[in-house]
Amino acid sequence: VTAGTFSLNFGRFLAGSRPFARAGHAAFWRLLSGLSLLVGLICAQPAAFAQTPTPAAAAVPVAGHARLAGDGERTRFVIDLSTAIDFTAFTLADPYRVIIDLPQVRFDLPPGTGQGERGLVRAFRYGQVMPGAARIVMDLSAPARLERVFVVEATGSEPARLVVDLVRGDRDAFLRGLGTEIRPSGASVQKRAERTPRFEPQKRSDDRRPLIVLDPGHGGIDSGTISGGVAEKDLVFDFSQVLRERLERSGRYRVVMTRREDRFIPLNDRVKFAREQNADLFISLHANALPAHEGSARGLIVFTLSDRASDQDAARLAEQENRSDVIAGIDLTQEPDEIADILIDLTRRETMGFSHQFARLLVNEVRPVTRLHQNPHKSAGFRVLRAPDVPSVLVELGFVTSPADLRLMTSDAWRQRVAEAMGEAVDAFFRPRLLGALGASGQERGPVTASGSQAP
Ligand SMILES: [Zn+2]
Repeated sequence: VTAGTFSLNFGRFLAGSRPFARAGHAAFWRLLSGLSLLVGLICAQPAAFAQTPTPAAAAVPVAGHARLAGDGERTRFVIDLSTAIDFTAFTLADPYRVIIDLPQVRFDLPPGTGQGERGLVRAFRYGQVMPGAARIVMDLSAPARLERVFVVEATGSEPARLVVDLVRGDRDAFLRGLGTEIRPSGASVQKRAERTPRFEPQKRSDDRRPLIVLDPGHGGIDSGTISGGVAEKDLVFDFSQVLRERLERSGRYRVVMTRREDRFIPLNDRVKFAREQNADLFISLHANALPAHEGSARGLIVFTLSDRASDQDAARLAEQENRSDVIAGIDLTQEPDEIADILIDLTRRETMGFSHQFARLLVNEVRPVTRLHQNPHKSAGFRVLRAPDVPSVLVELGFVTSPADLRLMTSDAWRQRVAEAMGEAVDAFFRPRLLGALGASGQERGPVTASGSQAP
């Protein structure tokens, strides 16, 4: 297969397909087919499609060469596949999104793919959402109807393809279409319940040591911020491993992670996980980013939960971090309402006190070993900090947009130093309780544990 024939086929494929073969579009598609031939001649073809895959490589389908065509009335999304695969397509509102669920797929696409706006699609993302399941999420610039979604089998030299045709619609029609799924048969079916990853229930244990949940932010389809070729999800995961090691080495704590690999976890599930584990402390790890041309902020910040953000930057950051579920294509309208319960409310207030206490300890311990933001303890409405009965903080380790911060955050010496300081803060936080457990002081009370303060 040569790049030329491949692209020509693609052009013909686009031009020849029924919904797009309308008279008004014919000239456009001819032009497109010519252009794609040129592009095809210039760009090398992804290896997966240029040669017969080895049996091992064939085990996981490969998706590559994603492209958008069309305009604000009709837009087509096409992605090549090494083999025809199953899919489920549906839409989500607020913001308008199209979700394509796929079995496990390896995406072989150049960095930056999906960031350019075209027609009805503002941007698209792809990646693993849970073990054995991949997803493509498109942000729409306007409400649109999923006119057709289909997979074309590979023929001769042409790879298989997934094709999504979008037609502009209005909000009412979009909302009516929610809850309908399109499957390969072409049949629309009523949407099943959202697939959410299940956590293994905590084993009953006589281990009374405080349980700390470390929560490396983002993962899988959600990379977090990306700067200097470093994705936030990897940066915070690497740090969490060092912190985990420090905490476990002390022998004083049990440590569990919300994710142990590069996979997506909805924000709600992170909170639920901490509660189900009866965690005594929840530490979410992130890295900050400044919008372009907005100064050169640096330094670590510890966040606690608050309905009212401590400042505008904090509000904007919380909004950005809370977008994680939108990015991964989670239906936010399915989120359970906040529980209104006076007992939960009391617990929440008590928990808030402990969260603040830990945040202060953290800032004090970290101050001598790394650069802090000029205002290192802030608060905002981070959804991941909402557990009413688990003291929770979110640490923005530094700014990936600052080359100096990025250099620190990717250095092993810095990770060791900061993890050690955070470990000291954890020690200080639990010291009263640990002393109490040893009988050294009957008066001092440690932080109330989740299990000890739960509403019935
Ligand atoms: Zn983040």
